[in-house]
Amino acid sequence: MTMFGSVPERLAKNRYELDEGQSHIEVHQDLVRATGVGPLLVRVCAAHVYTQEADGSLSAEYSACLECGTCLAVAPPGALTWHYPRGGFGISFREG
Ligand code: SF4
Repeated sequence: MTMFGSVPERLAKNRYELDEGQSHIEVHQDLVRATGVGPLLVRVCAAHVYTQEADGSLSAEYSACLECGTCLAVAPPGALTWHYPRGGFGISFREG
């Protein structure tokens, strides 16, 4: 732990306004399957948004998203559609 607290302690201070039923992440299953990027997305997302399902599809639980953009940086073009949540929704960071 640092003088600022552990990562989980700091994350717990954030506030999240869920835009119910309006996911800001869309997974394009055909391209994810074709490129095999699913396991990488599961691994790089610190918020554990992505889950590789038994049927090979990739699900995204958008309510946990930290809006860091890492998934977009590693995904092949077209595998994901990602945009910031609508104004007033999504994460508000309380500490840098
Ligand atoms: Fe995970 Fe960051 Fe992508 Fe959100 S933007 S799904 S937190 S990697």
